[in-house]
Amino acid sequence: MGRIELISGPMFSGKTTELMRRLERYSLAGRKVVLFKPDIDERTNRYVRIASARQEYAIEVLTLYKPVGTDADVVAIDEGQFFPPWVVDYCQSLKDQGKIIIICGLDMDARRQPFGSMGELMAIADTVHKLTAVCKCGADAPYTWLKGDVNWEKGNLILIGDMERYEARCARCYAKP
Ligand SMILES: [Zn+2]
Repeated sequence: MGRIELISGPMFSGKTTELMRRLERYSLAGRKVVLFKPDIDERTNRYVRIASARQEYAIEVLTLYKPVGTDADVVAIDEGQFFPPWVVDYCQSLKDQGKIIIICGLDMDARRQPFGSMGELMAIADTVHKLTAVCKCGADAPYTWLKGDVNWEKGNLILIGDMERYEARCARCYAKP
């Protein structure tokens, strides 16, 4: 039976660590695992290298440009918020083939709006695990805050490789900059 699992939360909430923990379990049990990354700008490459360093778990890391078939038993989708809308049907069809799909991504952008296809992915997932980071005040932080001057018109959402521009915030601290 196929299954779709989703892991979401703000930046610094350990999403990728949780994803890798789950993939390692399957990998150690001999299941074939593939990790798909979105096709976005160069800054992603740094991120791909971080994940690629986990090669000891024999997890193949590929950039997914379009829906493709795979012989993997477990399909991980990292940075799910950056995939085009076709990712929703793609995950459904993989599930219909009996595969386990684990999606990881930011649930909200820095405006606290649903990020990309993550809302739809959350709807079709069988299980959803929302993680939180820790706010500077010590409370659980569900939001990603963008520091400095922000040009929302420019679509200034969340970019990888620019970590110092962001911090995780609780609802109270998000409301009072
Ligand atoms: Zn706070």
